[in-house]
Parts: sequence; C-alpha cells; structure tokens
Amino acid sequence: MINYKYLLFLFISFLSLASFAQGLLQEKTNFSRQDTLRGSITPEREWWDLSYYHLDIKVEPDKKFISGKNTIQYKVLKENSVMQIDLQSPMKLLKATQNGNELTIKHDGNAHFISLIEVQNVGDVNRIEVYYEGHPKEAVRAPWDGGISWKRDKNNNHFIASSCQGLGASVWWPCKDHMYDEVDSMKISVNVPYKLINVSNGRLRLVERIGDTKTYHWVVKNPINNYGVNINIGDYVNFSEVYNGMAGNLDMDYYVLSYNLEKAKVQFKQAPKMMEAFEYWFGQYPFYADSFKLVEVPYLGMEHQSSVTYGNGFKNGYLGRDLSNTGWGLKFDFIIIHEAGHEWFANSITNKDVADMWIHESFTSYSESLYLEYYFGKEAGAEYVIGKRKNIANDRPIIGCYNVNKEGSSDMYFKGENMLHTLRQLVEDDKKWRQMLRGLNRAFYHQTVTTKQVEDYISKTLEKDLTEFFNQYLRTTKIPTLEYKFDKKNLEYRYTNIVKGFDMPIQVKINDEEHWLFPNAEWQTLKQDDRINTFTVDKDFYIFSKPL
Ligand SMILES: [Zn+2]
Repeated sequence: MINYKYLLFLFISFLSLASFAQGLLQEKTNFSRQDTLRGSITPEREWWDLSYYHLDIKVEPDKKFISGKNTIQYKVLKENSVMQIDLQSPMKLLKATQNGNELTIKHDGNAHFISLIEVQNVGDVNRIEVYYEGHPKEAVRAPWDGGISWKRDKNNNHFIASSCQGLGASVWWPCKDHMYDEVDSMKISVNVPYKLINVSNGRLRLVERIGDTKTYHWVVKNPINNYGVNINIGDYVNFSEVYNGMAGNLDMDYYVLSYNLEKAKVQFKQAPKMMEAFEYWFGQYPFYADSFKLVEVPYLGMEHQSSVTYGNGFKNGYLGRDLSNTGWGLKFDFIIIHEAGHEWFANSITNKDVADMWIHESFTSYSESLYLEYYFGKEAGAEYVIGKRKNIANDRPIIGCYNVNKEGSSDMYFKGENMLHTLRQLVEDDKKWRQMLRGLNRAFYHQTVTTKQVEDYISKTLEKDLTEFFNQYLRTTKIPTLEYKFDKKNLEYRYTNIVKGFDMPIQVKINDEEHWLFPNAEWQTLKQDDRINTFTVDKDFYIFSKPL
C-alpha cells in the first residue's frame, strides 16, 4: 500500500512541521465498537472461510451510482448461523439470499449480521448472495482518503477509479472486510456505458454488449485481498508485451487514456525492467496466471493486485521529486517500481492485521533501493535508502494497534526500509540476504501472515536471534544511540535509548580502519595500539551516535 495519507503528511511537513505535528495529535487513540467490528476476527467471521466472490455490478457515472450483488462462496469451519458482511454507509445492503430464500439482516452500522436458515455443516461449501446499491463515498483526495474518484479526462470523458486501502473495500462493495481471509479466486463483472472500458484485476474473459452498455467480465485465479480489488473506468487504449520471466511467459498489459499512449509507451519500458530486478531479488512474480497490468488512474497510484494503478504523470521520481535528495530517486518512476513491488509484499505476502502493515511497506520501500542496486550498483541503493532517513518521524511505533483496523506510524516506510538495510549489514553475505528475501516469498506465497511469522522466518534463515532488534525498531520509537569518547589509545562506548538486551553490533572506522564494535547498555573500552584521532560509525547502520 500505501498509506499515502502519511506520505502526504510528510510532504506537508516539509513546508510546515507544525501542521504535521497537529495532524498526528489528532490521531485516534480511542476505538469504537465499529472499529472492533471492522478490525477483529469476530465470531460471525471466524466460522467460515472465503473461497470465491463474484462481484457483479453496474456503474452509472452520470448518477455516481453503483448497484449490484456479490455472490460469496465459503467453506464452513465451525457450526454457526450468523454471518457478518461489511458494507459502509451510505451504501445500502438491500437483501441477502441463500438457495433462493431471503434471509433476515440485522444492521449494526457498517457491519451487517445475516441469519442463515439452512444448517451450516462443517466442511460444506455454500454460497450466499448479497444485493446492494448507493452513491458510494466519493474520494476527494484519492488514494489518501479512499472511495470512488468520479473524474473527467481532458476530452471530458468519464474517468473513474476505486481506491480503498485502510478504509476498506466495503466502502464500495459488500464483503468480509478483514485482511486475514482472502478468496482463492474471484470474478468481477462491471457494467458501464458502452463507450467506456472497465479494467479490473486478473484477465478480461468476456465483453458483453447490452443495449447502450457493456459488461466487462474479469477473472482472477489467485487469492486476492479485498483492498486490491478495483474498478477503473475510462476511455482507455491498450498495449501489451510478453515478458519471458522466471516462470515462463508473462503477459504484461497497459491501459492508458488514448491521448497518453505515446508517453506511456516510453515510460512503461520500466515495467519489464522492474520485473527483471524483482524476480532476481524476490523470486518469481506471484501472479503469472492473472498477468501483470499497469492501469492509468486519476490519482497517484495503488498496488491493486495484477492491475497496479498509475497516476504519476509519466515522469520519474515521486510526482517528479526524489524522496532521498540523492539524485537516485529520479532514476526511476516511483509509482511503477513501488506499487509493483507490492505484488510480492502486500499482494502475495499479506498482513493478517493492518497493525502489521510494515510487512507491506517496509519491504516495498526497501525494494526501491534493490531496484537501484540491480541497475546502478550497491552504492546507489545504499545512498538512496540512507537519503530517505530524513523523512523518519519517530512519532509512533511502526506496529499499530491490533484488532481495530489501525496501522502503525508512517515510519513503516522510511524507518522500516532502513531497519532492513541495517539488518543486511549484520548478515555480511549478499547471497544469504537474497536467499532470505526469496525464501520469505516461497514460505508465505499467497498467504496472510503476522509479524511474528515474518520475524521468526528471518531469524531462522539468517541464523540470528533478532528478538531485541525487531522489538527496538518495530515496537518503540527509540533509535539506538551510541555514546562514545576517546582519549589517546582508548575508545569507550555504550548504547543508550535501547530496549533491554539490545546489543546490535556495528561497523565503525577508527583512524580510517574498519572495526566491528559490540556495544550494549554497559560502558566498554577498546584499546588501540595507536593514538585515536578519528572515529565514525558506518552510515549503513541506522543508529544515532553521540560524542561525549
Ligand atoms: Zn506502498
């Protein structure tokens, strides 16, 4: 994802630190019953396992209206007769049926509790249909606020897109709106005025002309998270290529507004370059069966699975800017590289709870530096990731609040990637590091996971106990600070601002000679043969240092 909301805050903060701080002070700390219904695995959710959705809707641009139904197929895990389905106001859940029988619905804000009539036997695979309609929440500043963007292109054609990360897919369609459970496959049928094209996830299977409308049927063959599901409606043209990748031929398709075709053909040359670099670092692209697409939208972009959306103006950088101020950020299109990086970390490996969203953002932010490293060398990647440190806020921990749909600090981007870059220094073995990244993608392929699972996997494969390391960087805002003093031939040093037991080794230079130091909370002394004139900590380690 992105929670670009916070990235935007960061940009604002360049202009006004005060307004940024004020924004954070308004961060919610008390959670409501609705937050719990949205963010926890309630008893009405946990008894059934999603297997398939068929979202079948009509979009009426002139009325800004969506109507239709979702067929939900699920496997019964436990006996129960009440099912929670989420749909946010002002959308209305009109009716629910199972095998033709209308069911009663108890509405509780954005959660809807449906009483099933038929006995739900453990192991059975059943379906229900939920019907809905309404004027969905309009995204004013997509993708930061989320909802539907009802825009026009330069030719005054409708240009419409959904974006709903954080807010949730239930802002525009009824579903089991929690990250832990994904369907195994999905069909998305979208009816639009016949002059427009709808692009969703997966592959286009059929276009039906019905009067003065067309229905676009898209099929997704892989597990997909709710916020990844999207509609993009516009006066699109399409071009494509076949990429010969790790798992064979991969269809790469591009949908852009007709008048941007030539610009896109140049800028999107970065898409196969991205694919080559990320397959090298992370292993095979996770959605060969569904193809890869870049789809132009009227907002910045989002990691919608197998239809990554793009609105970066066909320019390099992040809206033309370099987030690192090193120059390296202008060597690639931030949205193509970052959002596509999420195919591995967010879409294939997905957090069960958004409190663990660093699994998406820290690895994906870090992937930008790996892209640079692949094409420009190790130094380029390192300079870029170090350059982004200036954006770290250290306001709240990276891990958010569990069970209330509350992600952690925006530091999951810049601090998270610096945490990973620091960890790589401890490994001192680039092959092992890459094997760990690829191993994560094999071990958790198409799964939803917790921070604990990811931590354990990394510790095991790198053969290091990283308990305190992750506690320090993910669960506190404290940055380890190396206090030191030297006198003639003696260097004294210790860590402050650390969690109990934190003892990360660091590389330093003493008189231009490299050394490993093994600091902890206690003062230690390193004796040298010669007088110490200079002392510096290797910049690759994200710590502070303080001469006394
Ligand atoms: Zn992101």
